[in-house]
Amino acid sequence: PDLFQPERPNSQGLDLRHRPTITALDKARGAFRDTSWSAAPMVGTDLTAGQTEGVFNPADPSDKVGEVTWATADLARAAAEAAHPWDVSPAERARILNAAADLYEAHQAEIFAILHREAGKNMLDAVAELREAVDFLRYYAARGQDGTDTPLGTMVCISPWNFPLAIFTGQISAALAAGNAVLAKPAEQTPLISALACRLLAQAGVPSTALQLLPGAGDVGAALTSAPQVDGVAFTGSTETAQLIHRSMAANLAPGAPLIAETGGLNAMIVDSTALPEQAVQAIIESAFQSAGQRCSALRCLYVQEDVAEGFLEMLKGAMQTLVVGNPWDAATDVGPVIDLEAQNGILDHVTQASREGRVLQQVAVPATGHFVPPTLIRVNGIADMEREIFGPVLHVATFKARELDKVIDAINATGYGLTFGLMTRIDDRVQHVTTRVAAGNIYVNRNQIGAIVGSQPFGGEGLSGTGPKAGGPLYLERFRAHPAQRSDA
Ligand code: GLU
Repeated sequence: PDLFQPERPNSQGLDLRHRPTITALDKARGAFRDTSWSAAPMVGTDLTAGQTEGVFNPADPSDKVGEVTWATADLARAAAEAAHPWDVSPAERARILNAAADLYEAHQAEIFAILHREAGKNMLDAVAELREAVDFLRYYAARGQDGTDTPLGTMVCISPWNFPLAIFTGQISAALAAGNAVLAKPAEQTPLISALACRLLAQAGVPSTALQLLPGAGDVGAALTSAPQVDGVAFTGSTETAQLIHRSMAANLAPGAPLIAETGGLNAMIVDSTALPEQAVQAIIESAFQSAGQRCSALRCLYVQEDVAEGFLEMLKGAMQTLVVGNPWDAATDVGPVIDLEAQNGILDHVTQASREGRVLQQVAVPATGHFVPPTLIRVNGIADMEREIFGPVLHVATFKARELDKVIDAINATGYGLTFGLMTRIDDRVQHVTTRVAAGNIYVNRNQIGAIVGSQPFGGEGLSGTGPKAGGPLYLERFRAHPAQRSDA
């Protein structure tokens, strides 16, 4: 057999400027406009699950997208006992993960429909999300054949609702490619897409004891991260939850069990007076408002050099005014809803407060029903004014004087987060100076600061933003493997 699998290139996705592509896609998606999906625990044990609840569309809460049957803490503990590492050769695992990638692509219309209706993702985001999921499968399939085949054992993977397919798939495919058993807990808000993903992985040949799905709330996560059979945890979500998980692992798991955490950010961009305004505005709009700002990589605090600020902010406000906020199913929609009522209320509180203080510079109209938040521009003195990450379409802006550049960088570093950072300038020395001083995992110059690409732009932060290693990079899989120094018998 040919054990060498040449690495495949990244998924090509779809060209959304090509009319026939859109027409064909619309037709294929149409079949899923009223579909009702279901999600339930997929476990290697026959214990019964918990209650069943409806799942609703955040853009239109009268649209019932499906039903989820929740796992319970008992079921999570039973699944941990039933977990069995995937003991086939690395090449066979890679073959199966690549087959799953092909199945994902073959089911694109259904996947897009669930991403629109369950997660509020617009067309652009849905296409990008499927591409990234497919890239993770193929990339980790290839990486799983490098190095020594020493799986950790059983990995818990806890994923967020903002990339309910891509990050869900990234975590579990890394763990599986390295030969581990996986206990996957998807975000409560997005169980349906994770269930489809697991059905496709099972269809491709991943055994039911190697991949178990446990849709559930925090009690399921807590049961999993304290189960004695667990050898490590991969988590993407808030910094606070990561800290809770870390404490639970320290109290319950074997010493040295790794936590691979990708957490929050308070990301900044600096635009100096030499930046090309059209380019910068475009990059800012994408970085702050794509995915309705629900990316941990998103731009939260923009610094514009005072000398150009007035004209620049007029241009930015004008660009915001062209954003179409609406139903993510419609191809024209730029900004969809936020994930649920709780998120909507939390973000709106922040916006209302800023509005009371007279700091709202621009706000875009939104539909009257659904969990929408108006894309908003808020004036601040600096990033230090921002107490927390506002996970939605809200951009904060401050101005700075040329001589204050280093003070701005110090303030950005002082947040303790370090995920993404953007710089817009045409001065080469400044690129060098700023990018070496800023503490951030992913630094982008003269482009947007979201949308890292598997295999070429590994993604991950430092400080409060994560533990590393970076997802989609060559070192990621190593944390899912045992190394002599961390084995309990060493
Ligand atoms: N990898 C994504 C990006 O670069 C962000 C992931 C996240 O929001 O968790 O935009």
